Amino acid sequence: MDIKQIVAAEPTGQSLEVRAWVRTFRSNRFIALNDGSTSQNLQVVVDFERESEALLRRITTGACLRIKGDLVESQGKGQKVELMATEIEVLGDADAEEYPLQPKKHSMEFLRENAHLRPRTQTFGAVFRLRHGLQFAIHKYFNDNGFFMVHTPIITGSDAEGAGEMFRVSTLDPKTPPLNDKGELNWKEDFFGKETNLTVSGQLEAELFALGLGKVYTFGPTFRAENSNTTRHLAEFWMIEPEVAFNDLFDNMELAEDCLKYVIRYVMEHCKDDLQLLHDRQQEEEKSLPQDKRAMPLLEKLAFATDNEFVRCSYTEAIDILRNSKPNKKKKFKYLIDEWGADLQSEHERFLVEKHFGKPVILYDYPANIKAFYMRLNEDGKTVRAMDILFPGIGEIVGGSQREERFDVLKQKIAEFGIDEESLWWYLQTRKFGTCVHSGFGLGFERLMNFITGMTNIRDVIPFPRSPKNAEF
Ligand code: ATP
Ligand code: MN
Repeated sequence: MDIKQIVAAEPTGQSLEVRAWVRTFRSNRFIALNDGSTSQNLQVVVDFERESEALLRRITTGACLRIKGDLVESQGKGQKVELMATEIEVLGDADAEEYPLQPKKHSMEFLRENAHLRPRTQTFGAVFRLRHGLQFAIHKYFNDNGFFMVHTPIITGSDAEGAGEMFRVSTLDPKTPPLNDKGELNWKEDFFGKETNLTVSGQLEAELFALGLGKVYTFGPTFRAENSNTTRHLAEFWMIEPEVAFNDLFDNMELAEDCLKYVIRYVMEHCKDDLQLLHDRQQEEEKSLPQDKRAMPLLEKLAFATDNEFVRCSYTEAIDILRNSKPNKKKKFKYLIDEWGADLQSEHERFLVEKHFGKPVILYDYPANIKAFYMRLNEDGKTVRAMDILFPGIGEIVGGSQREERFDVLKQKIAEFGIDEESLWWYLQTRKFGTCVHSGFGLGFERLMNFITGMTNIRDVIPFPRSPKNAEF
């Protein structure tokens, strides 16, 4: 039986066997045992007079045990049941002198350096069980709403996705690279006979499927060689990208809002214990901060996202708000807003969400020249049907748009962006044959994880983070 089932069972003195790891062992009598099935530990009571000194010494934090015992009502407070051990076997020792995790608080940096052991801690156990629950909720949401999941390629031959710097995929020997007559690298000799990269987004391929299957989504890894060492960027992250035929930009917003609210509610209902643990952890961490420096308590924040209507605000309105805002006038922003056309930085996004509106915000109709080539041009000729969803504490969590479905306009845009039209022949063909209005968005899975868990660094919500100069494990 899993500890999750055991701690919820009626204690009738029944005999049970568990295999799990020691979290703590105190007074030579109480073992807090955890097998990862739940954030709750099973309290095991050891009759130290029955066990040998040698065995007791091997019950250390991190050791793996097999224990047989009788499940009884707990005498102590804090748990309903406890296991009176009748038989203890050490399956795997953990030398207390050497085991990196001590029964005390470790810094997040230290735990990142020990990412191979992180799953054994309370906090990361909760985070990664939640990660599972959340990805399940996402698949359930789309499945229940008639979407088909498409596996878009991870190795891509198109260099026009435009979402960020790419990682090259090659089997050429860097010591003896084949050169062409011009002395340049000859990609024709590479594995695929051309230059290939890891994908930065599955969108273009998802569009092809939306124009055949109607409602589709991808949920896969994406890679960006952006040299940004922030708490919001990873070089390898997971993205959910729905794409829907016949949806315009406002349908797209509705889908994103509905999806976000659904998955947040899902984990609030199905991952209660782990969320409670993370909520309590955050409260504990912030106890020493002055009231105005504290973040909104986690469970309150989640309810705030599910219970509020997301604000819809055009880019143009947002610029007005920002231009007249206190931090802009007092020159508190690092990047001051003075004219229409400026790209919004995270500080501006957070001001709008956290200070101005106090609700999640959907910004839309951005200047065409700061957005990608495939976004649908508005009648004004200078804005595109793009939308970003901004969340408190996170900034941009979703980026999406209505796609340019008009062949001539798209062709023109491709030229203006200096993209080789040849490389997108297949994409352009969908606009030539049976084109239609369609929209989609990209939701960063780890950014959503950050929001839901209250973890402040994106490296702490993915099992093995990849970032500049870091690919350990
Ligand atoms: P940002 O401006 O924050 O870098 P972006 O405009 O590059 O984001 P998009 O290309 O629109 O983002 O990607 C869609 C979504 O993927 C974003 O809204 C965000 O949630 C997520 N995302 C983008 N880049 C990263 C990254 N490097 N690491 C983790 N998540 C990311
Ligand atoms: Mn980016």
